[in-house]
This record gives sequence, structure tokens and C-alpha cells, in this order.
Amino acid sequence: MARRGNLTEEEARIIANTGSLEAEMADRMIENVVGCMPLPLGVAVNFLVNEKDYLIPMAIEEPSVVAAASNAAKIARAGGGFRCETTDPVMIGQIQVVDVADPEGAKVRVLEARDRILEVCNEKDPVLVKFGGGARDVEARVIDTLQGPMLIVHILVDCRDAMGANAVNTMAEAVAPLIEELSGGRVYLRIISNLAVKRLARARATFTEEAVGGEKVVEGILQAYAFAAADPYRCSTHNKGVMNGVDAVVIATGNDWRAIEAGAHSYAALGGHYKPLTAWEEDEKGNLVGTIEMPMAVGLVGGATATHPTAKANVKLLGVKTASELAQVIAAVGLAQNFAALRALATEGIQRGHMSLHARNIAIMAGATVDEVDRVVERLVAQKVIRVDRAQEILRDIRGER
Ligand code: NAD
Repeated sequence: MARRGNLTEEEARIIANTGSLEAEMADRMIENVVGCMPLPLGVAVNFLVNEKDYLIPMAIEEPSVVAAASNAAKIARAGGGFRCETTDPVMIGQIQVVDVADPEGAKVRVLEARDRILEVCNEKDPVLVKFGGGARDVEARVIDTLQGPMLIVHILVDCRDAMGANAVNTMAEAVAPLIEELSGGRVYLRIISNLAVKRLARARATFTEEAVGGEKVVEGILQAYAFAAADPYRCSTHNKGVMNGVDAVVIATGNDWRAIEAGAHSYAALGGHYKPLTAWEEDEKGNLVGTIEMPMAVGLVGGATATHPTAKANVKLLGVKTASELAQVIAAVGLAQNFAALRALATEGIQRGHMSLHARNIAIMAGATVDEVDRVVERLVAQKVIRVDRAQEILRDIRGER
């Protein structure tokens, strides 16, 4: 792995570290630090994205996610792997204006001053502009609220390889006095929107009927998708499965997973009806075609991506060169994860694969030591009863207490 990712000995050591961050590092990242809470880091294999092979680091506490992603990616390979793309990395900064006497008139005055607004924004971040990003456009809407009409101004900022929250918030704050002057109102909030509809990642893959496991499995997956598309109770869990994969890569690369979660679910609900982030169809040959489209505000500079040593080493292992490439890989993982879950659900049920891995957690919960875990798991799986009380009985047995 180190050779493939061109890692130095130090980077490989950082990745293999199951302990924690250095205290000084943790203390600089957040406040009131008392320790660290490590997560397991796995590597998903078999991913072919836009004809390039990737080893994908995933940080997650849930068993079977990494295995399922790797297995799904293997099946997708038979159909040529994942095809992915992104829009430009444009984030929206919102400026809330209240007490505007003529909101519609103010809206037009703001739009007329587009160039001045963009100039004020871009003066704030010459580095971003140098890298080809910066404020690109201005939008304005009048909305009805509990406090009466408000003028909401959006600045659209190309964030290049940054997630962009700090960059966009700084611009929104800087331009607020000009917006007050133009609108005659008062500005309150000036902050990025996590509903990143202008920063979308898309992936598609064909899972051949044969590799999926036949016509019946394809049909089962289509039925599962139709269920999610029609029912928010199911759709929530459908999208949770997508996020199992997405979040794990987002966390492993030091990105802000709350931002990604907020964006994903608000995007899914955008039409007023909570919908799946993926879609599943059958092509004319009977193969399964999966697609995903979701906001993907991830970066390679800024935030923890630039400070967390494991995140930095993981990005190197992944081998992505731009934030857009990272977003594409993450979209592929989300699609793969959803495929794996639907396939399991539509066939043997999720528990068979899940529970044998989950048995390890149960054994540890029952008090098994490192030396005892494997023996307890073996018996739990053989007995097909994966419960803490049974694990405790097995432990007593093993320890000769009975
Ligand atoms: P940042 O400000 O640390 O880094 C971005 C800056 O890096 C840019 O403004 C630019 O000046 C510079 N830069 C250098 N090379 C660049 C390149 N190739 N492409 C783009 N910019 C380049 O970080 P950020 O991405 O603006 O903010 C991310 C952080 O903000 C995260 O830690 C996130 O958790 C936090 N945050 C999020 C929210 C939210 O999501 N609602 C709100 C506030 C803060």
C-alpha cells in the first residue's frame, strides 16, 4: 500500500498509528481538549473511477461498510467501473437583509451592482483568486418570513480546492455594508449555505446482470429503489446507506462531515419530497444502472485536511490532485455503498453479512479479551445467535466456569 501510494516511511507510520494525535496537535484543533477518540481506518479496494484505480481510506466504526464497498466496486469493475464528474466547486454565501422598504426594488439595485459586489468579495481573498477561484456571480430573492419580507442575497464563490466556508463567510461579511447601502435595509446573517446545489458530484456505474447475481436480484434492487423513492421512512435508511460510504471517506480525508450530511439531506428534500440520493434503472440488456447526484463540498486545503497528519497521509494514499477529483471518488463510494446495501437487502437480508462482523462487537461487549474474541465469534456465528447473553455463556464455557 505504501509503495502504491508513494508514501514515505513516516506517512506509512502515521496511517498505521492506531493511537491518537499528538496532544499539542489536538489542542490546537479544538477547545478544552482532554484526549482523542480514534476511529478504525480501513482501505476500500477494487475501485475503478474514470479508468483510474484508487485505494480509498475510510474512517468508520461500523462493521461491514468497508467490505461492502470493496465488494460492490469489484462488481462495478465488470461493467467498466465508475464514471464520475463534478460541477465547478461553487459555494453559496448568504446575506440576510431585513427592514427593506422596497424589497423588489432593492433586489434589482443589488443585481445591478453585481460587479462592485464581486470586486469587494474578491479583494478579500487574493490567494483564492490566484488559484483560479473567487466570487463569480450574485443572486437575490425576496422571501416571506415570520418577521415579514426579507431580501436574501447570494454570492456565488468558486472555492477551487477549499471546502470554502471560511473563505465565503469572510467575503459575505466584507460585502455586507455595501449590501446595506444598496438595499437601504439592515444585514444580520452572513454565512455559507450547506445546501451546495452549485457544487454537485455525480457518479454512474453499470452493474452487469450476471455480476449482480441474475435477473431476480436486479428486479429486487429496482423494487427496493421504488420503495425508497415512494416512502420517506425507507428513503431515510436508503440515504443513510449512501452516507456510510460518503462520510467514511470525508472523515478519513479530514473534511467536514456535518457540512456534507447537511448538504446531502437538504438536497434530498429540495423538491419538498425527501428523495433518494441515488437512482436505479435497468438498461436494454437487463443490466443495472446506478447513478448518484449530491452536493459535495470537500476540500484539500483548509480546515483539518491541512492539519491532521493522518488526513494528509490518506489524501496522498488516495492520490487525488484536486477537490473535484476527491468529490468524484466520494460519489463513487456512495453509489457503491448503496448498491451493496440494496443487493444484500433484496437477497439474503442485511443481517447475514452484517451480523458475522457485528459478532466481534458483541463478543467484546460481553467482555471477551483479545485472545478470546475469535473463539467467541466463531461459536456465535455457528449457532446463528448473535446476542450478548449468548456471548457471555460462551465466554463462561471457554473460561471453564461452567
Ligand atoms: P480555509 O479558510 O482554512 O482555507 C481556504 C483558503 O485557502 C482560501 O480562502 C484560499 O485563500 C487558500 N487557498 C490556498 N490554496 C488554495 C486552492 N488551491 N484552492 C482554494 N483555496 C486555496 O478553509 P475553508 O475551506 O474556507 O473553510 C473550511 C473550514 O470551515 C472547515 O474547517 C469547516 O469545518 C469550517 N466551517 C464550516 C461551516 C459550515 O459548513 N457551515 C461554517 C464555518 C466554518
